[in-house]
Amino acid sequence: MPDDHKMQEQFFDYFLVLDFEATCEENKQMDPQEIIEWSVFKVNAKTYTVDGTFHEFIKPRHNPELTQFCKTLTTITQEMVNAGVSFPTALQNFETWMENDVGLDKRFVIVTCGDWDLKTMLPKQCRNEKMQLPEYCKSWLNIKKAYGEFAGITGFIKENSVMMSGLGLTHEGIEHRATDDCMNISNILRTLAERGYVFAVTGKAK
Ligand code: AMP
Ligand code: MG
Ligand code: MG
Repeated sequence: MPDDHKMQEQFFDYFLVLDFEATCEENKQMDPQEIIEWSVFKVNAKTYTVDGTFHEFIKPRHNPELTQFCKTLTTITQEMVNAGVSFPTALQNFETWMENDVGLDKRFVIVTCGDWDLKTMLPKQCRNEKMQLPEYCKSWLNIKKAYGEFAGITGFIKENSVMMSGLGLTHEGIEHRATDDCMNISNILRTLAERGYVFAVTGKAK
């Protein structure tokens, strides 16, 4: 395990740590599933400070009433999504934020916890809403895969607690709330970097 506490130069200027919350039911796949909270942290790849954030609550179109299961799991209230924007507006706002607050000329990679956000959720909702999936959302860095390589774990990492305890980190905030999830992913990212890990893209959309 590389543990020389020596920060390496990264191949990116920014890590864009992204997390979605979405409509859900217990033991049942929502169809279509819709994003209800979208959070992104712009993490500086030299200092690991959060230099900017993007956040939207999104009002689901197909299932506008959240299930009790979803509200309990996420702590997102009906009022929060009712006050949210539509998915097309959220996507447009994200693209504007990417252009103005990140810069498409910068070297960046979107960082997620798992492959679901950019492999499944965003492409499916873009298809359903007839919106174009931005090119830069077609590749990502799954922090679980990075941690697995760092820690020499070959199998699938299910629980985030495996990474947190493996790195000696304490979970912060509320689990399944996009902004808090971004904060914990950012903590894992920074800790791996501090221990000398060099990040690379782990997944690409077909
Ligand atoms: P997460 O980023 O881990 O909070 O999960 C993203 C989304 O996946 C949630 O907003 C839910 O829609 C869904 N999800 C996560 N965990 C569960 C679960 N135990 N049961 C059903 N859906 C879940
Ligand atoms: Mg997530
Ligand atoms: Mg989450």
